[in-house]
Amino acid sequence: MAYVNDNFLKLQHRYLFADIAKRVAAYKEANPQADIIRLGIGDVTQPLAPAVVEAMHRAVDECASSGTFRGYGPEQGYDFLIDAIIAHDFTARGIKIERDEVFVSDGAKSDTGNIGDILSGGNIVGVTDPVYPVYVDTNTMAGREIRYIPCNEANGFMGDIPAERVDVMYLCFPNNPTGAVITREALQRWVEYARKNDTLILYDAAYEAFIQDEAIPHSIFEIDGAKECAIEFRSFSKTAGFTGVRCAYTIIPKELKVRSASGSRVGLNEIWNRRQCSKFNGASYISQRGAEAVFSAEGQKQVKATIDYYMQNAKYIREALKGYGLTVYGGENSPYIWLQTPKGIGSWEFFDVLLHKAQVVTTPGAGFGAAGEGYIRITAFGSHEGSKEAMRRIGSIVGSL
Ligand code: PLP
Repeated sequence: MAYVNDNFLKLQHRYLFADIAKRVAAYKEANPQADIIRLGIGDVTQPLAPAVVEAMHRAVDECASSGTFRGYGPEQGYDFLIDAIIAHDFTARGIKIERDEVFVSDGAKSDTGNIGDILSGGNIVGVTDPVYPVYVDTNTMAGREIRYIPCNEANGFMGDIPAERVDVMYLCFPNNPTGAVITREALQRWVEYARKNDTLILYDAAYEAFIQDEAIPHSIFEIDGAKECAIEFRSFSKTAGFTGVRCAYTIIPKELKVRSASGSRVGLNEIWNRRQCSKFNGASYISQRGAEAVFSAEGQKQVKATIDYYMQNAKYIREALKGYGLTVYGGENSPYIWLQTPKGIGSWEFFDVLLHKAQVVTTPGAGFGAAGEGYIRITAFGSHEGSKEAMRRIGSIVGSL
């Protein structure tokens, strides 16, 4: 008799975005003419940069000839991409990262979840609340206990250092869903906490490319001592429109060691490498050539222009909502705007109001955790026209709420 992993039965019944899709589909069925503007799911809308497209075309052509065809690549990723990552993301910021500390993958979603493969099921896991649901779901699947650390206006949406220790702590800055960033000092405090308590920090920097303020850290490895306590996840998805192409990378410093059951300390770099070699056959060659082109001079210029496009939306949305007398957070160093619902209306109720009265799809904050109640998330990943029209419509109903 086969048994299911019972932990899966503890998961929340449906995925947040499936719930939203169901409500939007029901509304659309009842109102087939409705012109719905989607500022809900965090997918990008602008096409790939021309430099990326050209590089991927060249890679396809290489694979079309027997002399240059590529089959299985290194499980850790090709050196041409790893070298570009190190030069651009780390050396340029004065951080020393070696080739065998970088693991190229098909996504930060899979890596932030799969990393649990190499961690004990007995670890207590801390997450900030509201939270990107992947951290909670994947750790629930593994049977781990979760502690929620509320992020709110009082702590600048950065979360207070918990009084009790956790074994593993997920941090994500710029944050999904709140759009908050973390200051160097606050990140330093998390690193000190981790070193003092032997806590492993899992730092999700998927949105670092949206940081505008020079004082905000892009990488946890900008903080002294972080290499001994942190893993960092990065992605080309939001930086360069790779949500469909798929390519990301994870940095596991060789200094990082955690306890084994026997009491010895083992390096997670080696263990993750072993895991990847057994379970993963590398990201596609074509994706990796596309990703390499993101770091070329042309690629950087083009990718930056797209990020600027989204950040113009973010600014427009922020300013418009503030102009209507609403309270907004985020959207300054992040593509997410975290809007406090007016008059204490519940998240899902406000989501429905915006869908039914303004035909605008958002994401209810409560879907990201208890501390998200009373907020909704709006993304800046739409078009200029869509973002402006959505704000015009919200402006026209705000007075009647
Ligand atoms: N991490 C965060 C915080 C995200 O919001 C997302 C996507 O929305 C991801 C990771 C997923 O990245 P990827 O497309 O590389 O799997």
